[in-house]
Amino acid sequence: MLIGVAASAGIGIGKAVLIKQDEIEVQKYAVSFLDAEKQRFLDAVEVFVAEVERAFEKVKLNVGEAEAAILSAQIAIIKDPELTKEVLRSVERQKVNVEYIFNSICNGYIALFSNLEDELMRARAADFRDIRNRMLSIMLGVQTVDLTNLPEGSILVAEDIPPSQAASINPENIRAIITQEGTKFSHIAIIARALQMPAVVAVENLLDVVHGGETIIVDGYKGKAWVNPGEAELEDHRLRLMGDRERRARLESFRERVARTADGERIGLLSNLAVPQELAVIRDHNADGVGLFRTEFLYMERKKPPSESEQYEAYKRVVRFLEGKPVVIRTLDVGGDKDIPYLYRDRELNPFLGYRAVRYCLGNHDMFKAQLAAILRAAVFGDVRILIPMITTVSELRQVRELVAEVRGELLARGKAFREDVPIGVMIETPAAAICAEELAREADFFSIGTNDLTQYVLAVDRGNGNVASLYSELHPAVLRMVEMTVRAAKKAGIKVSVCGESASDPLAIPFFLGIGVDELSVSSGFLLSVRSQLSTVSAQYWRERISTILAMETPAEVTAYIGSRVDTPQEE
Ligand code: PEP
Ligand code: MG
Repeated sequence: MLIGVAASAGIGIGKAVLIKQDEIEVQKYAVSFLDAEKQRFLDAVEVFVAEVERAFEKVKLNVGEAEAAILSAQIAIIKDPELTKEVLRSVERQKVNVEYIFNSICNGYIALFSNLEDELMRARAADFRDIRNRMLSIMLGVQTVDLTNLPEGSILVAEDIPPSQAASINPENIRAIITQEGTKFSHIAIIARALQMPAVVAVENLLDVVHGGETIIVDGYKGKAWVNPGEAELEDHRLRLMGDRERRARLESFRERVARTADGERIGLLSNLAVPQELAVIRDHNADGVGLFRTEFLYMERKKPPSESEQYEAYKRVVRFLEGKPVVIRTLDVGGDKDIPYLYRDRELNPFLGYRAVRYCLGNHDMFKAQLAAILRAAVFGDVRILIPMITTVSELRQVRELVAEVRGELLARGKAFREDVPIGVMIETPAAAICAEELAREADFFSIGTNDLTQYVLAVDRGNGNVASLYSELHPAVLRMVEMTVRAAKKAGIKVSVCGESASDPLAIPFFLGIGVDELSVSSGFLLSVRSQLSTVSAQYWRERISTILAMETPAEVTAYIGSRVDTPQEE
């Protein structure tokens, strides 16, 4: 079994198609018809421009303007008259084939840009690599994989899939995606979710194990995959897949309902939002709002942070779309699993414990204030709340409040409309925050428990490391006791508490959250209906009466067995 990061929910079974991004081998040979050689380059540029323009339109339509801009930059580079001059002049001087010339020129730029201090310039190296490969395959007639035309039932396997290729993924013939690189927020993960296609990313050594043609099972719920599985495994997953389809059909009746427990208690059921493509599902599935707007995608797949006005437009769009329902915007949670390379000059030894999230923002005031200003301005259009990630002390919250006050003053001076009373909440996702929840609750407007990180930090288990995955349990008594402390502090201070980590949609964790008194659950958009369905079968009162028993348990297995034997788990995960 392979373990990676669950990037897009669902089960996919099919045949592996390996998408290679290999360096193309380039020969060097003398040529005598120099004009014809030069013309081959000019023709290839035309083909390049036409291909990339087509990809540009698809990316703009399916993903967004910012991502498409990467491709338009590549068109500008290849059309640059200086580059053309350099290539043609070298053919003239060296009298060798143009692929060889172009390859050497590109490699020169890649080496040059890779070594520069300026992050923007360093990112240019990736552009040149993409351009070099595409141009060489055009000139050499090397077939690039056409993702629109793969055999029906393909599982796409790759180291990573660059934006230009990702745009042409055709959901009709691809059942799932699995990559060696990437994160939940990488381009391919974004597209997989938009297409509701199962995906697992960041599978270490994937390409050592898969060579193409193997039967693969991809479990996009749990971030797992099986290569050439045995008959029992296959049968098991075929059943899961069928169950998945039937369940989806049955869940349709929960679209219009509100989330209520079996004993009639109203629970807020909101959606997490990681990419704008999820908005349609959030509306169709009638979420009570967005409980966690992960803003990192606005900062990714680009070369510098988005400006205040870009962010303002993005937030405004979401807030308007939600038509008055709450939108909890989390400030930039950079670092750890959310790598944004251009923000870091040096690699950190322990990124999860490093300069990340609110720590980074408090050290980069200009960037942070641009985000805060954009949020305060977008708040004019609806019910917006600010959520601060990775808080470990109340002084960080105070510093954020000071900055927000500064931003208000600046917006006033600039004559921009903004909302004064935007609530500021704290993510409880570190042991320090849970232990100091009482102090934090006195100064925060609400709590949101991030069980993904809370579990990793409480148990000292890297959330993305397959070797220790069996130790990672959101139902570990230590995690549950931290949740209990947090909820108790929130109740005492009279503030609301929600859960926005993945366990908010875990059928075995939901009874615990109901019993402990969590006010809201915020789940991945794909889970809205299944959670609403489960809530309708679970009695809050029943679980309230059993909370002290659960909190006294010794192992995750004990908790799982106890809850598991007392709930129907109609849905899969
Ligand atoms: C969490 O840590 O539980 C959480 C919701 O945030 P993220 O997964 O984005 O770190
Ligand atoms: Mg987190």
